[in-house]
Amino acid sequence: MIINNSHANRCAVFRKGRLRTFTVGGIHPDDNKLAAGSPLQTLPPEGTATVFLDQHIGAPAAAVVSKGERVKTGQLIAKAGGFVSANIHAPVSGTVLAIEPAADIAGRRQPAVVIRVEGDEWLETIDRSPDIVRELPTDSTVIIRKIADAGIVGLGGAAFPTHVKLSPPAGKKAEILIINAAECEPFLTSDHRVMLEFGEQALIGALLLKKALHASKAFIGIESNKPDAIRRLQHIIQENGYGLQVVRLKKRYPQGGEKQLIDAVVRRQVPSMGLPVDVGVVIQNIGTALAAYEAVQKNKPLIENSITVTGKSLPRQINVLARVGTPLSKLAALAGGVPGDTGKIVCGGPMMGKAVVNLEAPTTKVTSALLFIPFREARRKEASNCIRCAKCVKACPMGLEPYLLVKLAQRGMHGELKANRVYDCIECGCCLYSCPAYIPLLDYIRMGKLRVRG
Ligand code: SF4
Ligand code: SF4
Repeated sequence: MIINNSHANRCAVFRKGRLRTFTVGGIHPDDNKLAAGSPLQTLPPEGTATVFLDQHIGAPAAAVVSKGERVKTGQLIAKAGGFVSANIHAPVSGTVLAIEPAADIAGRRQPAVVIRVEGDEWLETIDRSPDIVRELPTDSTVIIRKIADAGIVGLGGAAFPTHVKLSPPAGKKAEILIINAAECEPFLTSDHRVMLEFGEQALIGALLLKKALHASKAFIGIESNKPDAIRRLQHIIQENGYGLQVVRLKKRYPQGGEKQLIDAVVRRQVPSMGLPVDVGVVIQNIGTALAAYEAVQKNKPLIENSITVTGKSLPRQINVLARVGTPLSKLAALAGGVPGDTGKIVCGGPMMGKAVVNLEAPTTKVTSALLFIPFREARRKEASNCIRCAKCVKACPMGLEPYLLVKLAQRGMHGELKANRVYDCIECGCCLYSCPAYIPLLDYIRMGKLRVRG
């Protein structure tokens, strides 16, 4: 299929009016996009790559290579363990040294394939030319199959296999695709750089996802603190007549939460415990759109991703294109080394990222950032008693009452926790950020959720 110009031009109207946002809660942390001006730099593979077999939601993949075997970059090394699972490919060429557990960022040991890097010999079937392939496949099933074969997962952090999201359950229809390019977490800039440097490829990826879903509309939601990315995508859409619409969003956290983004862009409310597809919407991250382009148009599996390496005391603020399996310590070294005043290292953003205790852990498909937080900011302040100010209630984007959930969790009142929708907590941390008594609200709520699940 060739892209339909007339429809596309209609959809590409750039709305200069009010910025859109979600209707309940939210906070305005400093965005600290320190690495925004740093172009993506490619980190050549060297040493070893450690590739976990369980990098996604669903069944772990099963290794299909053995110790001593030679592999090429892009070769399948582990097969999806079911429909809700994802293939895994060699991010480097070389020799398989071991198939054994390796330590992740939390120090937990997980099954992995360890490859010694030898040169960088890619599979011949992968198109590595810089040419942009604009013609889309005519058959939507081909798009979904290629995305599944390439092991694409949601790069917004959830790592949900993309081919599953593109196959709504019987009786559900996704008429709207929303590409999440909000990048609302402070410090993160890798999606921003993707839009500036691979904008057209990501937009073609969005068209592929739209076609796979048979969606009638597709929006790209971008926060207004990325005006250059908004202008760039808008320009490409108009020039090429792509049937996509950029929606400018107010800078507000957690604008990129699925339910918040749907509210902001199309004013539909996902019901409690519901999924976006329940209101006819599917959300995909802008990085996932780029990965879909590479999978379908270039036969390239998901073997590398863009990662922000940042922190207020870091010598260099950088965005890196790194192969999956790269040790985090290499990324830190590229940015000038771990600052002496580091109090906490986080994989991801400061609000929803995960603490790193093992800097030798490898990157995974969904590593988006490595953040170094100075000791003075990482230290938790001593908690005092709740002063019933309701700031946590005002900040909660899910309309929950965090102070109440904490009380119920502390008292082990599981039935009441359920009745007060503890499951709806998206663990965004807005309540924690707002609490003047420094009560570790999110820790208690997480504990409550776990206990309710038994
Ligand atoms: S972490 Fe949960 S309870 Fe706290 S603000 Fe976010 S959604 Fe609400
Ligand atoms: S923000 Fe903190 S102090 Fe205020 S009501 Fe909530 S838990 Fe209590």
